[in-house]
Amino acid sequence: MSDKSTPAGTSRRTVVGGMAGGMLAALATPAQAQQANAAAASGPAAAPAKQDPTKQYPQPPFKPQQQDWPGLASKMDPRPDHGENSYKGSGRLAGRKALITGGDSGMGRAAAIAFAREGADVAINYLPAEEPDAREVVQLIEAAGRKALPLPGDIREESFCHKLVEDAVAGLGGLDILVSNAARQHPQKDLADITTEAFDWTFKTNVYAMFWITKAALKHMDAGSSIIITSSVNAYDPDEALIDYAMTKACGQNFTKSLAKQVAKKGIRVNAVAPGPIWTPLQPSGGQFPEKLPQFGADSPMGRPGQPAELASIYVLLASQEDSYATGQVYGAVGGGGGP
Ligand code: NAD
Ligand code: MG
Repeated sequence: MSDKSTPAGTSRRTVVGGMAGGMLAALATPAQAQQANAAAASGPAAAPAKQDPTKQYPQPPFKPQQQDWPGLASKMDPRPDHGENSYKGSGRLAGRKALITGGDSGMGRAAAIAFAREGADVAINYLPAEEPDAREVVQLIEAAGRKALPLPGDIREESFCHKLVEDAVAGLGGLDILVSNAARQHPQKDLADITTEAFDWTFKTNVYAMFWITKAALKHMDAGSSIIITSSVNAYDPDEALIDYAMTKACGQNFTKSLAKQVAKKGIRVNAVAPGPIWTPLQPSGGQFPEKLPQFGADSPMGRPGQPAELASIYVLLASQEDSYATGQVYGAVGGGGGP
């Protein structure tokens, strides 16, 4: 977006206002640009300053780093940007009630922060081991003046998925937005090394839980509600080492398209987001071969991985009434690679 945009012209958009575009573009390093974004976030609403997106965020090589699954954003170096210091809302989801799986970190956390700053109350699901990340998200939602409902638990269990939706509905007083976003990704060089147990783990998390949670959520959703599935570039351009994961992400897109047709008559929209390489805890906690992590995102046309914050406005758009004619769509955020 141009630095010539007026605040009036952008009043209903995602904004990190404040600093003049020329000034921000002149900053030498991604870290400086991020600091500038943070400083801009405290200013009056205005368009994000114009700058070179290839230099906007950290670039490879990254320090080698590994964590036990499921990993914490707070232990990553550099820490992912989920929009904590930059996302500014403008009431686009005022009064809505949202449930986000994997809401503690990565894309789910970026969506949770953005939804709260757009006026929504937000329930987040995550694994008990992710409590430190979840605590930060709860504080950020509450700091936005909204209700935060932390609902830890393992979505590989059907009974928990039902309880999760019931607890979210009871705690929030309804449900208008579901973001089915949690996933498991684990590479194997050879198909022979994907055990039945591992295949089951990936499908339970990425496909069965999406099905169970969406089915339970739909009972509580009325016209104007929105379901968002996090898919992946792997649905179109599957990595040779991510066969089981890529299959599940293709399932997510197919689910999005068929369900969208089925529930359109009820006025409920269903869309998907298909990210490319994004800097999240999924990658250093078993989602990526450790030796590949330092060059993560380098082969993207952007030359770097995306940050969760860069996808926040996509989730807001798909959730909001402004996107009322979009259903059955897949929004790619791949940095120029093989998107939808
Ligand atoms: P992330 O690690 O921050 O989020 C994934 C979340 O899944 C975790 O935070 C965890 O809470 C949740 N989860 C995993 N197993 C669970 C279980 N059994 N029970 C409950 N919760 C569980 O990573 P992310 O990259 O933000 O992932 C979010 C979504 O983005 C996923 O669907 C992933 O497939 C998708 N995606 C990521 C990338 C990428 O490069 N990071 C690219 C394309 C798509
Ligand atoms: Mg997490």
